[in-house]
Amino acid sequence: MKVAIIGGAESGIGAALLAKKNNYEVFVSDFGEIPEKYKDELRHNEIPFEEKGHTIERLIDAGFVIKSPGVPDTAPVLRSLKKEGLKVISEIEFGYSFYSGKLIAITGSNGKTTTSGLIYHVLKNAGRDVEIGGNYGISFARILTEKQPEYMVLEVSSFQLDTIDQFKPDIALVLNITADHLDRYEYDIMKYGAAKMRIIENQTEEETFVFNGDDPIIAALYASKKRKERSIPIREADYAEGISSKEDNSKFEISIKGKHNLFNARCAVEVARIIGLTEGEIASGLQSFKNEPHRMELVDEINGVKFINDSKATNVDSVFYALDAIKSDVIWIAGGTDKGNDYTALKKLAKQKVKALICLGIDNQKLVQSFAELIPIIIESTKVSNVVDNALDLASAGDTVILSPACASFDLFENYTDRGDQFKRSVLELKNKISRKNRKI
Ligand code: ADP
Repeated sequence: MKVAIIGGAESGIGAALLAKKNNYEVFVSDFGEIPEKYKDELRHNEIPFEEKGHTIERLIDAGFVIKSPGVPDTAPVLRSLKKEGLKVISEIEFGYSFYSGKLIAITGSNGKTTTSGLIYHVLKNAGRDVEIGGNYGISFARILTEKQPEYMVLEVSSFQLDTIDQFKPDIALVLNITADHLDRYEYDIMKYGAAKMRIIENQTEEETFVFNGDDPIIAALYASKKRKERSIPIREADYAEGISSKEDNSKFEISIKGKHNLFNARCAVEVARIIGLTEGEIASGLQSFKNEPHRMELVDEINGVKFINDSKATNVDSVFYALDAIKSDVIWIAGGTDKGNDYTALKKLAKQKVKALICLGIDNQKLVQSFAELIPIIIESTKVSNVVDNALDLASAGDTVILSPACASFDLFENYTDRGDQFKRSVLELKNKISRKNRKI
């Protein structure tokens, strides 16, 4: 059987390797350039590929197509192949057909990486045979080329769920549905939400759906579905005052802070209980978990001012939770590529807490207009080191400076990691500069 793979990044290469291992004839095709490390892997595994364009004639005789989540359904190559009657599936669908363990899949607009990482850590810490992948880093298909873990924690995006067929998690989580990536869904949040809800499309009485019970969009979309699966809504009352152990009613100690993280942790606790971990095992995992960088990451403190890197906050909702979690006055660094943002939800918090807004972007017009009446000082810059210097000048001891952009990073940076890393570097450089000066005095 021949398979055509559209997109030569992590998920496409993972799918290619898994297909090759299972004796498919594989051909990888990418509209752009394939990164060198992936080309090396393809050559090493004797998998033919093309880049910088698609040759339809070479793709058309495949039995089916696996597409990367980065390739939109509207891409001309997919349209042409579908017109020829070829079935298009996602890499997670392909991986699923080779997996026989228990699948825990997590989606949502915000908190996927944190919650997936937490579930993985709690299970691993309790000695379970578990792997983590999907959007988190290593693709599902690639993991399956080497392992068949008892539990698989998979972070999945709406793009991956668009093209599933049989994919059926034993436990599916939908954390929230808020405005993000709407450009891929005709600017319709219900369409974007519906793609996320596909995570439960194939569930039966045997499987479980854990979801945010306070999210109105999930509620609306769920109400219109035929329910078969066991459903567990997580509501604010379940975690607002902390999460209690079932054993002695004491509160779990949780290493990550903020209301949003309490929710994420509550979801992880639910999954761990379904799997059958003891309350002691859960407590130990929650306490020792360390989140990935760029998510409310404390960088350092200079002259009593805390610097927090939340570069991964690329939409309005994640910034809402960041500002909500900070108890002091704030110098807020935001901006970048606007994704059709509506800043209304942030206005109250901005008025209460934000002393100054520093716009770090090329086009800051919308940010400036939205907050001009609410934030006393607004300045603009495109250089991270200037932004950090300005932030310290504007702050007093006890304040918090946070990079929480509400926007994508592609106007000035390679990606959100690059933006966060540059911010961290500038903060540490400034700290060193100040301590050198102090030493001289
Ligand atoms: P994702 O993988 O869905 O992008 P992350 O865990 O990487 O989510 O977090 C992205 C941003 O969203 C961070 O700024 C983080 O602080 C914030 N965040 C995390 N969990 C939630 C949540 N449940 N609701 C809203 N924002 C959240």
